[in-house]
Amino acid sequence: MQTLTVSPHPGEPTQTQIYLGAGLLQQTHTFDILRRLGKALVVICDHTTADLFGHSLADVLKAQGHEALLLTFPPGEIHKTRETKAQLEDQMLQAGVQRDWVVIGLGGGVVTDMAGFIAATYHRGLPLVLMPTTLLAMVDASVGGKTAVNTRNGKNLIGAYHWPAIIFMDTDVLVTLTTAEVDNGFGEMIKHALIADAAAFAQLWEQRTELKALKEPVISQAILHSIRIKQSIVERDSMEQGLRRMLNFGHTVGHAIEAISGYTVPHGRAVALGCLVESAISVKQGLLAQAEFAQISALIHAYIPDLELPFAPNELVRFMGADKKNKDMKIRCVLLADIGKAWEADGEYCKAFGLEEMQRLLSQCDSDLAQIRTANR
Ligand code: NAD
Repeated sequence: MQTLTVSPHPGEPTQTQIYLGAGLLQQTHTFDILRRLGKALVVICDHTTADLFGHSLADVLKAQGHEALLLTFPPGEIHKTRETKAQLEDQMLQAGVQRDWVVIGLGGGVVTDMAGFIAATYHRGLPLVLMPTTLLAMVDASVGGKTAVNTRNGKNLIGAYHWPAIIFMDTDVLVTLTTAEVDNGFGEMIKHALIADAAAFAQLWEQRTELKALKEPVISQAILHSIRIKQSIVERDSMEQGLRRMLNFGHTVGHAIEAISGYTVPHGRAVALGCLVESAISVKQGLLAQAEFAQISALIHAYIPDLELPFAPNELVRFMGADKKNKDMKIRCVLLADIGKAWEADGEYCKAFGLEEMQRLLSQCDSDLAQIRTANR
């Protein structure tokens, strides 16, 4: 088992203790830690993670003398809404959940975002434990204190910062994920390497066969490395005043793809597509060399085969116009200066583009994106 302490600022009392290792959710040590945190626990899962892990976790907790309330909601991004949050909160109120209870989010990023937001607001804040069960939730969604739900106007528009006290990452749970879900996690891991760590990019390339097969110890090491990249950024800018924006690389285009598809294109896949498109824009802006774009494209395609960009530039631009990073009616897009280095000027990590300018740029990227371009549907 490996441990890592992360916090909004180095040395701050608000800290998250991360435990990472195979079989953690079965270990006595895990339950000893939970017992020290609180006696009454509400476990929030989607239906899939409840069936796979939630019911058995609640049973063990009850057998150990805990009060455990298991709450579930249907899986999928379309259920990460205010309505689902209200339903879960009503169930907590009816069950008499008090301020001394602990919220556990056991699932993928949808569940960790939902459980985190509930923990942030229920009785003005309950302690939070996360047990991420997807690769994406381990390397990204569970780390960094952001929680949110979607609205009809876009993704993650309503939310709060709420740091989990503890995150348990049991790599054994990854074996039940579909290949497509594992690929989603690699989308965010590649993004972390691209914005801040050229050595991690090289390692993702060298270890691609072992990593894709989720082989230990390389997969645990790569997860830990990816978390460290995110943490080193979050620690320097926990409230996203500047530097943290670089974590949105791939997301301006990615969120637009998710929204246009009605959230049928999963987040990690949309981010991988977004990383490709935003790297191509970086080339067109004269910031990134064409040879580096070729390496980025090769790595993304090695991890996530059969990528398709299903929307035309004008459709993408329409949704990019609603991105929450935007300012003064301009799309603000994170770009790359190099592999392992996000572009920066005067402390700004986004470049601003008018809607027409963005549409023109996207059209110019067409030949770079030929591999993923599909007929405009
Ligand atoms: P997800 O939570 O929808 O999980 C994907 C699917 O896998 C779901 O159907 C789920 O039921 C299933 N699943 C989960 N664990 C499983 C397991 N071990 N075995 C089999 N099936 C399993 O999606 P995700 O990709 O984990 O997370 C995406 C979400 O994370 C998005 O909403 C995104 O906005 C959010 N996110 C948040 C942050 C943040 O900083 N808060 C960062 C990145 C992403």
